[in-house]
Amino acid sequence: MALETEAKRMIAEFDFTKDDVNKAVREYLAEMEEGLEKQGTQLSQIPTYVTAVPNGTEKGTFLAVDLGGTNFRVCSVTLHGNHTFSLTQSKVAVPRALMETQVASELFGYLAQQIELFLKTHHEDHFAAHKGKPNSVPFFDLGFTFSFPVEQVGINKGRLVRWTKGFAIEEAIGKDVCGLLQKEIDALGLPVKVAALVNDTVGTLMARSYTSSGNETTLLGAIFGTGTNGAYVEKLENIKKMKMIDEQEGGSNYDRSTGMMIVNSEWGSFDNALKVLPDTPYDRDLDRESNNPGIQMFEKRVSGMFLGEILRRALLALHGHPDPKIAIFKDGTSADNDMTTTTTIDPNSNLFKQWGIDTSFLSIVEEDQSDHLRITKQILEKDLMVDSASTEDAVAVKMLVHAVGKRAARLAAVALGAVVIQSKRLETDGFADIGVDGSLIEYYPGFEEYIREAFREIDGIGEEGDKKIRIGLAKDGSGLGAALIALIAGGSEQ
Ligand code: ADP
Ligand code: MG
Repeated sequence: MALETEAKRMIAEFDFTKDDVNKAVREYLAEMEEGLEKQGTQLSQIPTYVTAVPNGTEKGTFLAVDLGGTNFRVCSVTLHGNHTFSLTQSKVAVPRALMETQVASELFGYLAQQIELFLKTHHEDHFAAHKGKPNSVPFFDLGFTFSFPVEQVGINKGRLVRWTKGFAIEEAIGKDVCGLLQKEIDALGLPVKVAALVNDTVGTLMARSYTSSGNETTLLGAIFGTGTNGAYVEKLENIKKMKMIDEQEGGSNYDRSTGMMIVNSEWGSFDNALKVLPDTPYDRDLDRESNNPGIQMFEKRVSGMFLGEILRRALLALHGHPDPKIAIFKDGTSADNDMTTTTTIDPNSNLFKQWGIDTSFLSIVEEDQSDHLRITKQILEKDLMVDSASTEDAVAVKMLVHAVGKRAARLAAVALGAVVIQSKRLETDGFADIGVDGSLIEYYPGFEEYIREAFREIDGIGEEGDKKIRIGLAKDGSGLGAALIALIAGGSEQ
């Protein structure tokens, strides 16, 4: 029983109570407002220059490309105008050599060639017609999802701040990445206009807004994958810092007539000062040994990249507990089904390695309803080289998994709930629609339900409000979503 007592003490460290949630929502609301007023705040609240949201009646064919860490995707999306679409795509691994060349045109030229190949393969007629008479066929508007830090200064303009994920092309830094791509597209004479630079959260918002039934639009797009972030629809007049940014950028050209703009919150850095976020010894150690201590503190408690590591540190503490009756995965004998077995852990176990536990481990354990937690024991053996884990150990593991996962969902509810409250949509529209994407929310059992449990505890949402909040999975933000942004960007310029 001693182990159970200690596990209970540990999971209490992960409690994020009703009061905590409400305090955090108030802090989130304050940071939202601050971020709309000035630059360089904790919540960045970045203007995206996307000034409209689709309602599902849009039509046409658009291109989208996505340069992530490893692959380059090209796709064309045809919107049928009835919430449905068809999508054709190709994917290539970006050659290593091009990630580190001296000249940007080598990489962007390669990307343009991939677009050319895609058009030849999937839009042969259009391509041939254009080759014959370059000005006789309409150009495809293209949405460019570029998953590196950029400082966006217009709907299709953004300067590369720095490369990440193994890319290193010095020449491109500080340049407008849309311009770099357009130049190579033009050099090949392709009928393509880079119409929009796309952030994946905005893509998620757009994709959900187009596909959800009814002609109402979506308020918020949120990602709970490797990282976490959200983008939402804001009234243009509320973005107080826009005037200053307009002046800096010489009066950027965007459609002001809709009175709205999507704002990319970059909420991973909410409360970096830890005024309201929970902070256990495991959170502190994770942060200290991360490559960016003190930064992305919300993300480090919420997203897929980190939950496995929080759990690992908690399990490691329990494994190293000085009381042998408490220490898990050790010397223990257990008497399951009247059989006595000895538990051992391999010294090479991932339990002892930073990032050694993937967040999918949590999903499997959270889901486990098997007798004596047979499935948890199996995955302990497979992933952590724990031989013959006792049921008592497995129960402790499951308790900690649940605590880490549930806390993440309750924190997620803080960001989502605050955006819903700030929008006043529950009062004005009678509902608020949220599009979500990412493996964590898609696969972690009960993640949405834990979010909703917290919604019901939030002042300003409650039981009634929770019923009016719709949450729907919106996959393919970088395909469908980017195409929709290209549509809105193209339309706003004509
Ligand atoms: P990305 O964020 O790169 O677009 P995903 O949305 O697939 O990709 O998220 C990947 C993250 O989700 C990783 O951190 C991984 O650990 C986590 N993950 C993968 N599978 C699961 C799962 N079944 N349950 C919970 N988390 C998962
Ligand atoms: Mg993703």
